[in-house]
Amino acid sequence: MPVPGELVFEAPRRGKPPAHLLDLAPEERRTALLELGLPAFRADQVSRHVLGRHEDDPSAWTDLPADARELVADRLLPRLLTPVRSIDCDSGTTVKTVWRLHDGALVESVLMRYPDRVTMCISSQAGCGMNCPFCATGQGGLTRNLSTAEIVEQVLAGARALDRGEVPGGPGRVSNIVFMGMGEPLANYRAVVGAVRRLVEPVPAGMGISARGVTVSTVGLVPRIRDLAAEGPPVTLAVSLHAPDDELRDSLVPVNTRWNVSEVLDAAWAYGEATRRRVSIEYALIKDINDQAWRAELLADLLAGHLVHVNVIPLNPTPGSQWTASRPEDERTFVRILERRGIPVTVRDTRGREIDGACGQLAAIVD
Ligand code: SAH
Repeated sequence: MPVPGELVFEAPRRGKPPAHLLDLAPEERRTALLELGLPAFRADQVSRHVLGRHEDDPSAWTDLPADARELVADRLLPRLLTPVRSIDCDSGTTVKTVWRLHDGALVESVLMRYPDRVTMCISSQAGCGMNCPFCATGQGGLTRNLSTAEIVEQVLAGARALDRGEVPGGPGRVSNIVFMGMGEPLANYRAVVGAVRRLVEPVPAGMGISARGVTVSTVGLVPRIRDLAAEGPPVTLAVSLHAPDDELRDSLVPVNTRWNVSEVLDAAWAYGEATRRRVSIEYALIKDINDQAWRAELLADLLAGHLVHVNVIPLNPTPGSQWTASRPEDERTFVRILERRGIPVTVRDTRGREIDGACGQLAAIVD
């Protein structure tokens, strides 16, 4: 059992999810098909169906012989996610799904359709080891890391729902992906980088989603931010800062005791320079905790002159937390101070709040 207050970087070892096509890079898929006694070119055909057309029913892969379809589906496309429950709001355009994994672990993903885009918020771990006191996921501790395929399958499930016209607004495509569901993506670095590749590489290697539309959010694991900058792909980096001073951030984001505000921001700026991408700073406004005008000024001091964008998130309620969202006038003042200092800032909508699907509310509790 996790000790309260302890940070967990190493996920508990559990039975591995079954081998899956989506865990494999294109070359590895060809090898896997050869090992099944099939010609290597079948790997691209299958990948086109699965990643390009989101078609997981092998009977629809009519360019392959029937026995090859069955063999590949049986060995390389085991079902990884079983839907346990879906709930929606916003007239069906926000949908939260709870998934059961092969070993019974539960994760959640959220699909949000807007007039001009569809964003999926996906999980990278079952639970989370980062222990931020205002986040519901953090309160349950870390169960395990997800595999690359388990991460990508969340997006494919959303893509299939959109293809079938199940989300009001007609058939559509997933345009944006945020690694802002359960878990700390950079604590599951290899699987997350694999998933990003499957998402952004063109069909048949991947789904062909623009890297511009993908955001990886982190509490600030500095060495992994630097790895990501070196390795690409050039996704947007979001840093959950929540406080400009170490004294407060040590308690809001406990990993700050390992890598402090200035170390995290240095790594973020280096990431921005390497990718030429604007870094996002996440700042959940908590009444009388981190919403003072002087903290807005201090935040502006830290960010001024950098390629940055601030996402202010009104605190979403979580069970057992004594904290609440800031007063509207304090939120306005906070935002205005940043604007006056020339820092781009938006207040994030609270989509999904009524279905416990908003930031920090994902706990995968099925009653
Ligand atoms: N572990 C990563 C990915 C999760 S992203 C990270 O922390 O960045 C989820 C975002 O929602 C983070 O910015 C997180 O700090 C924020 N968040 C957590 N609890 C929240 C709450 N109760 N209200 C608003 N935002 C919250």
